[in-house]
Amino acid sequence: MTERTDVVVVGAGGGGAVLGLALAQKGLGTIVLEQASGPPGGLRGEILQPNGQQVLARLGLLDKLPSKAVRSVRYFHFCRAGGAHLCTVDYEMLPPPYNRAVVTLPNVAHHVILDTYEQAALGGLRHGTSFKGLRRDGSRVTGVWAEQQGKAVEIEATLVVGADGARSKVREALGIPGTLHLYEDGYLIGLVDQAEALEESLYFVGRGEILGVFPAADRKLYFFLMIPAGSYEAVKAKGLPALCETLTRIAPDLGQTFRNLTDWSQTAYMPTGRVRTPRWVADGALLIGDAAHAMNPHVSQGRMQAMMDAMTVADLAPEWLARGDMSAGTLAEFERRRRPQVTMLQRLADEQVVFWNTGNPVLMLLRDRVFRTLDRNRRLRYAVLEATAGLRAQPPFSVWDRLVAGGFVPDFSKDRV
Ligand SMILES: Cc1cc2nc3c(=O)[nH]c(=O)nc-3n(C[C@H](O)[C@H](O)[C@H](O)COP(=O)(O)OP(=O)(O)OC[C@H]3O[C@@H](n4cnc5c(N)ncnc54)[C@H](O)[C@@H]3O)c2cc1C
Repeated sequence: MTERTDVVVVGAGGGGAVLGLALAQKGLGTIVLEQASGPPGGLRGEILQPNGQQVLARLGLLDKLPSKAVRSVRYFHFCRAGGAHLCTVDYEMLPPPYNRAVVTLPNVAHHVILDTYEQAALGGLRHGTSFKGLRRDGSRVTGVWAEQQGKAVEIEATLVVGADGARSKVREALGIPGTLHLYEDGYLIGLVDQAEALEESLYFVGRGEILGVFPAADRKLYFFLMIPAGSYEAVKAKGLPALCETLTRIAPDLGQTFRNLTDWSQTAYMPTGRVRTPRWVADGALLIGDAAHAMNPHVSQGRMQAMMDAMTVADLAPEWLARGDMSAGTLAEFERRRRPQVTMLQRLADEQVVFWNTGNPVLMLLRDRVFRTLDRNRRLRYAVLEATAGLRAQPPFSVWDRLVAGGFVPDFSKDRV
């Protein structure tokens, strides 16, 4: 039997879940297919930047996040590994009310989004269902083939959305060439009980070393340690005391907290990749989130951008459906609105990879100079914060600003924001 709906979304991750809900709230028929057997349970990046908070507010969910699982953070302090201060970024510079970063316990926001979607679109969320192929009428996409518990499922839809992550099968089926660049470094992430009280986020950069620590609710501390891609098993083989020693060397004031790491189940590994595609749309289908444009997590925006894609599609889709026009030319409006910010963030993240991940003494010197300039230069600090907060689409630095940031020329407007 063929099912029929307005929009079928492949993938119930950061972007797909938001899209399903936003479309359902507008009264559109939706089905969201997810290969996993249930909602995610593991550790992952859980920082909601201001633009992500705006999305949740638009969905009516920001106030519904359980207060016991959510923590607002105002300051991010950048330091050298070992502790020397480089720069402090104050989110309160941003316009209220979204002038904080919000750190949640694992998957909290995602579960709230999925639960609300399930209430809004009964039976719309299909866990344990894998995308297998596209249904077509000539070159136009008219739906999908999927597999649920070994059974083939056919869904006819006016619009198909690939929200199935960096290794997107929908992208492949659409014949959209995508390059997946895997970075040399990934992240060991962990969640531990705080021993020393931590109120603010700390970000340490060293010689080929990065450690981010973030206070989370329930007196937890969430951390990201950069490790060579694929080396998680080797790190584990060295044992928890060795990991604890590395973390404590980088962040000496948190030694007691890291001693609370007693089991590898408190940690996980996340690879990092960047996806570039020449287009995100086809006749009857489009890609959102990591499927279209995965980016390095330095800008803390991958999931936020997936959510913003979803909201943009949800804003445009009712009119597309009313006109009965799902041609690539019409869907390109989505890409036109979203590509500038995404491209800027991908470039910014890649520049940060060069300067932040480095073990090269000259680049390290330059990196530390830039951080110190930012600490004194309110204008440049604001521009970088605005980009990380997801509130601007233009690059934060002009060519002249780069010279200022490197400390090569003075800035007479450094206090002007
Ligand atoms: C270390 C690290 C830290 C990060 N920290 C942050 C952060 O602080 N803030 C932030 O905004 N972003 C962060 N990110 C990025 C963020 O995790 C991703 O950008 C985001 O999850 C992308 O959302 P998505 O919906 O496009 O893809 P995903 O969340 O990957 O979702 C894709 C979904 O599709 C499903 N799927 C795949 N194939 C199929 C199929 N064939 N059939 C059905 N379903 C399928 C998958 O199971 C998955 O649920 C971080 C990433 C890393 C690596």
